[in-house]
Amino acid sequence: MKKIIFAASVLFISACSQKTIDKASDPIVNHIDSTTSAGENFFLYANNNWFKNNPIHSTENSNGIFRTIQDTINSTVFAICQKAAATKDAAEGSNEQKIGDFYSSGMDTLTIEKLGVQPLQEELNQIAAIKDLNGLMQNIASLNKIGVSPLFNLFVGRDDKKSSEYAVSLYQGGIGLPDRDYYFNSDARTVNIRNEYQKHITNIFVLIGETQNNASQKTNAVFQIETALAKASRKLADTRDPYKNYNKMSVAQLSKLSKNISFENMLSIYGLKNVDSIIVGQPEFVSALGESLTKFTIVDWQAYLTWNVINNYASYLNKDFERANFNFYSTTMSGTKSQKPRYKRIVEQTDGALGELVGQIYVANYLPKGTKEKLLEIGENIRTVYADHIKTLSWMSAETKTKALSKLAKVSMKVGYPDKWKDLSSVKITRDAYLTNIKNINQWSFERSIQKYGKPVDKTEWEMTPQTYNAYYNPVDNEIVVPACNIIVPGFEGQMPDDAVLYGIIGGSTFGHEITHGFDDQGSQYDEDGNLKDWWTKQDREKFTEKTKAIVAQYSAYVVLDSMHVNGEATQGENIADLGGVVIGYEAFKKTKQGKNNEMINGLTADQRYFLAYGYAWMVNRRPENLARQIMSDVHSPSEFRVNGPVVNIDEFYKAFNIQKGDKLWRDESQRIKIW
Ligand SMILES: [Zn+2]
Repeated sequence: MKKIIFAASVLFISACSQKTIDKASDPIVNHIDSTTSAGENFFLYANNNWFKNNPIHSTENSNGIFRTIQDTINSTVFAICQKAAATKDAAEGSNEQKIGDFYSSGMDTLTIEKLGVQPLQEELNQIAAIKDLNGLMQNIASLNKIGVSPLFNLFVGRDDKKSSEYAVSLYQGGIGLPDRDYYFNSDARTVNIRNEYQKHITNIFVLIGETQNNASQKTNAVFQIETALAKASRKLADTRDPYKNYNKMSVAQLSKLSKNISFENMLSIYGLKNVDSIIVGQPEFVSALGESLTKFTIVDWQAYLTWNVINNYASYLNKDFERANFNFYSTTMSGTKSQKPRYKRIVEQTDGALGELVGQIYVANYLPKGTKEKLLEIGENIRTVYADHIKTLSWMSAETKTKALSKLAKVSMKVGYPDKWKDLSSVKITRDAYLTNIKNINQWSFERSIQKYGKPVDKTEWEMTPQTYNAYYNPVDNEIVVPACNIIVPGFEGQMPDDAVLYGIIGGSTFGHEITHGFDDQGSQYDEDGNLKDWWTKQDREKFTEKTKAIVAQYSAYVVLDSMHVNGEATQGENIADLGGVVIGYEAFKKTKQGKNNEMINGLTADQRYFLAYGYAWMVNRRPENLARQIMSDVHSPSEFRVNGPVVNIDEFYKAFNIQKGDKLWRDESQRIKIW
């Protein structure tokens, strides 16, 4: 994926002609920090003036271009929510009714406070009634139906080796911290998080009425169970090899592997029939899981399930739960100092839960005309340049090139918004039951996924909404998905940015990046039809692997927060995509009039503007806690290295900013990595 976790909205496009941007309001010029040099730290050179003038708000864990765009989107979503909430006579079941009632139910704190944990009482009672392992597994299957996933993740996805079919998959999971390493690392930061996590769990048990003593005992059980699951889990980098994480077996084999779990029973509770095989991500996890089931008592497991239910729904419960959840997950883990106003939280939760419906109104009423066409134009230009570029690669044989070109030509580009919206007509949303609304949506989502099994693959599906400021490549469909709001470039409202900016941000860091995912260490293992199947000559694959190893080494050397290193293995796919994106974006830019004629704008050469605009695409400043969390659990490198990492491999960058030997960012020409 291109970005982080955010979404976005407004823009320029107004069938307008390109006019020269006024220097005083040109973000590319204004963000430059002239107290540092491009050769010292290009990321800071491009962005630090903005960082200095825009400290991170107390209610946020980061600031920068994503935050700015998200604020724009959120204000649109807020307007949509408010309007829908004020429409009291909206037709029952209409999008307006659902959005309006959902938002209103979230704002109705009187009812939420009065209800307390009552909306989850049925689930808590069922957990309390568990008598044996069989009952435990049955309970887990029913919790899965409302979006709670203890122990593991079981879902209907795609068969990587037969992408035209859906398959049932099972993946490691069941832990409450973002990655297995949190349970074992011994540095002070992680030890503190572990301690605070246990305090938080105890807190939650006290809130549901346990004595302090019981709450401590239950916390102990939960933490021991999670530690056992974490121990059996693969490290982040080890979950990235598509072959090693594809282990197809029959349901009977799986039940045998897990010893104490009858997957036949679980599947029948799901309503899944005629399942002959399951794709298991991590067989050793399943086998360890089976053993741990009898290592802990039923009482321990009840505590674990109770924690899972409450933890999953805490942010929709009353203020005691919501605050406790915020204090741990947002403050301790990400450094956010204070909660934002309730209406802002509910706007985000409405977009999170009903984004598919919000998106329909967003596209109809708020999206500038011509957005889809402009995005497609940039995307197709990138594809054309990419093809020319592949033909010139000196390290690849003609045989592999032909296949790479064929794969590139078949990349399907979904841009703007879906042609077909998901059908939420069966979801019941009312004005007086916030948590139940969420439960209903989770249930719908689960059923929808289960019902896909055995049916033909739906290629029209989107996994993001149009107002999500992000994008993705999906290897099993060989497709990229670029939501409409990627058209937003803050600072260029009401006018078309110059091509350096369009190609630095939308061309390079969005389309170029996503297409390169089809050719990164993972994507390159899928063929043009999305099947996990080798299409490379042996020699070319070896050369490619050598190059990816160089990327791993380059990024592993980057140090964050004094002592933490970037996880070069886990982030390599993203780093390869970043490098490909900047290289191809640059070549596409050089075909525009501005690029060809090297036009100066506001004192910057065309090339300088291009690289600075790419730096702007990653203008993100995170709190240290958030940065540490990213390093441990995210496959994307921190923004500083998403900028400095690719550019130091590109000769034109050196020329544009006169980077010389002796400068901190200098790499000898022989060390500069060229892949795509
Ligand atoms: Zn990516």
